[in-house]
Amino acid sequence: MKNNKLAVVTGGTTGIGRGIALHLARAGWDIAVNNLRDDVEARQLVAEIESLGREVLFAHCDVGDSREVDAFYRQVVEHFNRVPELLVNNAGVQTWAPLLELSEEDWDKVIRTNLKGCFLNTQRAARLMIESGVRGAIVNIGSGCNKLAFPNLVDYAASKGGIEVFTKTSAVELGEYGIRVNCVAPGGVLTERTEREAPDYAGSWAAITPLGRVGYTEDIARAVEFLADEKASFISGQTLWVDGGAFSKA
Ligand code: NDP
Repeated sequence: MKNNKLAVVTGGTTGIGRGIALHLARAGWDIAVNNLRDDVEARQLVAEIESLGREVLFAHCDVGDSREVDAFYRQVVEHFNRVPELLVNNAGVQTWAPLLELSEEDWDKVIRTNLKGCFLNTQRAARLMIESGVRGAIVNIGSGCNKLAFPNLVDYAASKGGIEVFTKTSAVELGEYGIRVNCVAPGGVLTERTEREAPDYAGSWAAITPLGRVGYTEDIARAVEFLADEKASFISGQTLWVDGGAFSKA
């Protein structure tokens, strides 16, 4: 059944974000989605969501730039004439380098996109929800990297660890407005990027995951939908591990 609610999915045109946007659209949500620079995947996603009969807005927005984030939310409100009930902080980047060789530039890029992006979007979306009396939900996409240490990802792990703590603290602050904030922490998820970056990505995750397979974008999208739903109305400040049990071994 269509519910006509509006979700913002940052970095939502490829990989996990795309899976979340499509899953929510199929569940009846209208979608506002952004990314940094891609146009091709974005056009395809917009067409797919429109074919489902949902309303969709796509715009470029650097989630780490406060002026661009402000402009994005102005566009969202103008386009839909209402404020979002759900924000999914999904946009994220990784750089691979040993701690001793990690450049300051890469550190700044990862922290700015993953952690500052989460802060800026949460603050702007929460302000809109509060002004409109919307008791909304925010779901941040974390990672297992802060539970199980993977070498060469120290900047990424620090950003995702920050997101877990940010989730708890913002849930405490926003609870009085009826806004719930949770985190979904995926295990290894097969996307175009992970398939491209690592040989036999699916096989290597299947080998270390108790449930014996890699994760799919749909696994993450279902968890996000659950946390956004009324069924989760008393859940806030939590991290839900969607990892086939992989990080429970840590
Ligand atoms: P992708 O690289 O496929 O997608 C990342 C998206 O983020 C793209 O749409 C990209 O846009 C966008 N993006 C990057 N930088 C910015 C920015 N500054 N402003 C706005 N958008 C930006 O990655 P995944 O789908 O694999 O990952 C999605 C999320 O899930 C990330 O937060 C990641 O850390 C997390 N995650 C992924 C796991 C996995 O196994 N795949 C495991 C655990 C966590 P553009 O294409 O234009 O650059």
